[in-house]
Amino acid sequence: MFHLGGLPSLVTRDSPPHREEELDPQMTQVQTVRGPVPVEDLGTVLMHEHVFVLDEEYRRNHPETWDEDAAVADAVQRLRALVERGVTTIVDPTVIGLGRDVERVARVNALVDIKIVPATGLYTLRDIPLHLRYHGPGTLLGGPERLVEMFEQDITVGISGTGIKAAFLKCAIEEELTPGVERVLDAVAETHARTGAPITVHTSAPHRTGLVAQEVLRSRGVDLGKVVLGHSGDSTDLEYLHELIDNGSYLGMDRFGLDVLLPTDERVTTVAKLAAEGLADRMVLSHDASCHNAWFPPGVREAALPN
Ligand SMILES: [Zn+2]
Repeated sequence: MFHLGGLPSLVTRDSPPHREEELDPQMTQVQTVRGPVPVEDLGTVLMHEHVFVLDEEYRRNHPETWDEDAAVADAVQRLRALVERGVTTIVDPTVIGLGRDVERVARVNALVDIKIVPATGLYTLRDIPLHLRYHGPGTLLGGPERLVEMFEQDITVGISGTGIKAAFLKCAIEEELTPGVERVLDAVAETHARTGAPITVHTSAPHRTGLVAQEVLRSRGVDLGKVVLGHSGDSTDLEYLHELIDNGSYLGMDRFGLDVLLPTDERVTTVAKLAAEGLADRMVLSHDASCHNAWFPPGVREAALPN
């Protein structure tokens, strides 16, 4: 397991302080499901893992597919195994579109001693959800961007009345910048400007859309040093990866084990090459695993993705 040191991308301060005592304690805290913790206490962090990925509408309409107590117990067991390996924190970018339920995650977290860093944001690879289609900037009804209000509330007040605050923003771009994707990126950039919360973007390395995300966010005033470009590690294209780093962002080398997308040895080689160039602190590591992922029938992940 790699441990690349601190988590500058999760620390919402403007510039690196010169001395420890200049740190504003308020600004070096990271929100977790169990409340704020000093960044120094995060320990060994996996920067992109999910506890539950599901579809709440399917789950509610097909309760026969879901056993809440069993799902919680299974997640507890999997996270305990992670803790036994020495991992002390996971950053969980599960947001709306991926079935976020922070209360369920808190139930798991009550039974396993691990720090879980929650997110706000919206995951879509193409269209804005119908829920938001007819209101907001540029729509039939116009009006303010409800997404910004939702994201800001999650960060400053807490998620769905729990008091659990989101630590960072998450958005996604896959093959191209569709109007729906751009609207979410805009809302994330605006919320970042209001709150300073850092950003993780799901990108497609084969489509080089990390660069597109950088251009959109930069043009909206986002400091790219506050941005992790998730799934960059799906590529071995060092020219592409260098360009992302040169533009100021962190690379998410965060799908170790998703061998169908890129085998582990190629991921390791790419990380090792960049580390040998002195760029270890520009990369964050993870697996993009989930304790439970309803996108796949039971047993399929274990068979197709044994690592
Ligand atoms: Zn993910």
